[in-house]
Amino acid sequence: MDVFDKLKILTDAAKYDVACTSSGVNKKAKAGGIGSSEACGICHSFSADGRCISLLKVLMTNACAYDCKYCVNRRSNDVLRASFTPRELADLTMNFYRRNYIEGLFLSSAVLKNPDYTCERMIETLRILREEYRFFGYIHAKAIPGADSNLISRLGMLGDRMSVNIELPSQNSLNLLAPDKSKHSILAPMGYIKNRIQENSTDIIKYRNAPKFVPAGQSTQMIVGATPDTDFQILNLTEGLYKKYKLKRVFFSAYVPISKDSLLPQVNTKPTILREHRLYQADWLIRYYGFRANEILDENNQSFNPYIDPKCNWALNHMDHFPIDVNYAPYEDLLRVPGIGVTTAKRIVTVRRNFLLNFNSLKKMGVVLKRAQYFIICSGKVVEGLKISQDGVIRALMSESAVHRYYNNFNSNPNYEQLSFFNNLLL
Ligand code: SF4
Repeated sequence: MDVFDKLKILTDAAKYDVACTSSGVNKKAKAGGIGSSEACGICHSFSADGRCISLLKVLMTNACAYDCKYCVNRRSNDVLRASFTPRELADLTMNFYRRNYIEGLFLSSAVLKNPDYTCERMIETLRILREEYRFFGYIHAKAIPGADSNLISRLGMLGDRMSVNIELPSQNSLNLLAPDKSKHSILAPMGYIKNRIQENSTDIIKYRNAPKFVPAGQSTQMIVGATPDTDFQILNLTEGLYKKYKLKRVFFSAYVPISKDSLLPQVNTKPTILREHRLYQADWLIRYYGFRANEILDENNQSFNPYIDPKCNWALNHMDHFPIDVNYAPYEDLLRVPGIGVTTAKRIVTVRRNFLLNFNSLKKMGVVLKRAQYFIICSGKVVEGLKISQDGVIRALMSESAVHRYYNNFNSNPNYEQLSFFNNLLL
């Protein structure tokens, strides 16, 4: 099999992995080297199925010794198998880079023979790139669960970012669908990587230009919709991972049914894209808006509202927190208002030091008044002529398509109950 046949097979096999976006690292080439990496991110374009393509995203091999039921590369699946040698893959990366096709490498792998053997091949690929070709571009490497920590350490010194995929949100799901993996084999390397990253901030590394261990941090990926785990469970786990392992990102991937198995959704089931989208929205609220997972969902509401984003949903369920006065409210409260984002909240806090804000100035500063007007006042005043009706709030907070879906459901089913979030609405 020639190298381009291998490339076809191994890039196709890698497309289910979504754990890559921006590099998060600034790095210039040294004299005689090639490539650089910008912190602003290097994933500029996306393929037809939504995956980013400016990195060469490829597997070292798809010949897997494991048999995860949800995975196209599983041992029992009848697919063409291929493996790169480290030299082949390093050469390909350099050739693509020189032709300006890619800006970096996203290297993952199935488990060839065993985790240590696979990891050694990945290390050798990165070593050739970094030491022989003096490639300084961005490299994201997958840590293979179960690999020896010395090997993880070597891989981490060569890459910019690492990720250990959690894949399934609970030990039960792992037992059922990925019996070769265990929670420990996934969390142990994650903990090790976190500790090594923390060493980057010690004085000797900071001030002596010593090489850094994965300077762009670590991330992980979870498959959504392959198991009965709820949004609430997934979100709680996500929050825990950010806190405990200091992850840069948790990526969610709607399960694409490719395997016939009684434990998995049927092959013609559509991927739960809306659920994936809601998880990203909630993840954003946790990372930038100061929300806790149990504020967004709870034991009694374990799934996202399909019609409305998690922030608006929270606001509608907590109308007793509103309206807030934009001229006096703390920054944290401003962040909770639908239609006010992180940048606008910061602007408000800065500008109001000098003069009182009114609705016109809020609009100029980027506040989406269509949404925010129901939740704010300016020095005690509401928007002039604002009529607050349940219908108006619904329309203002939902996207056009969600409004259609909501009203279609409501009209086509006379017994359809209005969404629970309006029960508490104090309008
Ligand atoms: S170890 Fe990875 S590549 Fe192998 S079957 Fe499991 S998910 Fe697929």
